[in-house]
Amino acid sequence: MRLVRHSVVRVAAFAALTLLGSAAHAQQQVLNLYSARHYQTDDALYDNFTKATGIKINRVDADDAGILARLKSEGSASPADVILLVDAARLWRAEVDGLFQPVKSTLLETRIPTTLRSKDSGDGSQWFGFSTRARVIVFNRQNVPRADVDSYEELADPKNRGRVCTRSGSHPYNLSLFGAMMEHLGAAKTETWLQGLVSNMARPPKGGDTDQIKAVASGECAVALTNSYYLARLMRSDKADDKAIIDKIDVALPNQASTGTHVNIAGGAVARHAKNRAAAVKFLEYLASDAAQGYFADGNNEWPAVAGLKITNPALDKIGKFKTESVPISVIGMNQIKVQQMLDRVGYK
Ligand code: FE
Repeated sequence: MRLVRHSVVRVAAFAALTLLGSAAHAQQQVLNLYSARHYQTDDALYDNFTKATGIKINRVDADDAGILARLKSEGSASPADVILLVDAARLWRAEVDGLFQPVKSTLLETRIPTTLRSKDSGDGSQWFGFSTRARVIVFNRQNVPRADVDSYEELADPKNRGRVCTRSGSHPYNLSLFGAMMEHLGAAKTETWLQGLVSNMARPPKGGDTDQIKAVASGECAVALTNSYYLARLMRSDKADDKAIIDKIDVALPNQASTGTHVNIAGGAVARHAKNRAAAVKFLEYLASDAAQGYFADGNNEWPAVAGLKITNPALDKIGKFKTESVPISVIGMNQIKVQQMLDRVGYK
C-alpha cells in the first residue's frame, strides 16, 4: 500500500515536471542576433524585448564587415535570424550579396519611411533603418572660426592645413561620407578633395570618433569628423573631464548652404536562412515601436526613424534641426569601391 502510494506521488510529480518542462519549452523561443551595434546601453533594448515576448536573444557581436564575412562563410547553415548593421552602404551590400530576405510587414511599412528602407519590389523590403546619425564637424572654438569649417569641402582647403583629424578613411562611416561626396563632386574632384584632406591632417588617422573629439579638445587637432551620437554622449555626460572637453569645442553641421549634412543609418534585416523567422520579424517590429525608438534617441543619442515621434534629449535638441543630404543609399554603396581605390592612391590610411 505504502509502495503504491509512493508510486502515485512519483507519477504525479513526474506529470508536474513534464508540464513545467513543456511550459519552459514553450517559453524557450530564441532569436539569434548578429549585431554591429557597439553601444553598451543597448542591453536594456534587448532585455525589454525578452521581457515583452519571452523570446531569448543570443547575441553575436562583430563589426559590419565581420558579420557579412561570417554570414557568407556560414551559408545556409547560418544560425543568424536578425542582422543589425550601423552603416547604410553595408546594409545595401548585404542585400546585393543575398544575405537578407524580404519582409512584408504593414507595421514596418507604416512606421519606417521609404527613404530609410530598401526598395520594396512587391514582396517587402530587405532591410529597415531604425535610427539615423549625422557626420558632423567638431572644431576648437578658440582657434577655428566657424566659417572655416561649415562644409566638408573646406576640410581640404589650405586654410585648414595641419588642423584635421579623422579616424581611418576606410572606416564605413568615412567611406559612406566619401561615397556621397563622389555623387556631389564627381570622381576627379573627390580624389583631389581626399588628397587635400590628407595634406591637412594634424596626425595620421587613428582611434575612433570620440578620440578625434578628445584630440580637438586637447589641442592635438583643431578640426575633426565625428558621428553626432559620440558628441551628444559627451554633451550629456556628468563627468568633469567630459564637461571640460565640451567647453573647448563647438559643432558645425556641414553643407547647410549646399548639399546638406551627411546622414547615415543603423538598421536591421531578417537573415536569408533565418530558422526563427516569426521571432525575427517580431524583433524588427519591436525596433520600430515607440519604446525602442525612444530608446535609440535617449540611450544612444540617435534620431528615431519613425517620423513625428516626440523625443526628449537635451543634446539632440541643442544640435537642433538641420538640412540633411539626400543621396540614394545604392549610389553611396556603389561608389565605395572607387573611393577605396582613391584612398589607396592618395595615401589616406
Ligand atoms: Fe559608432
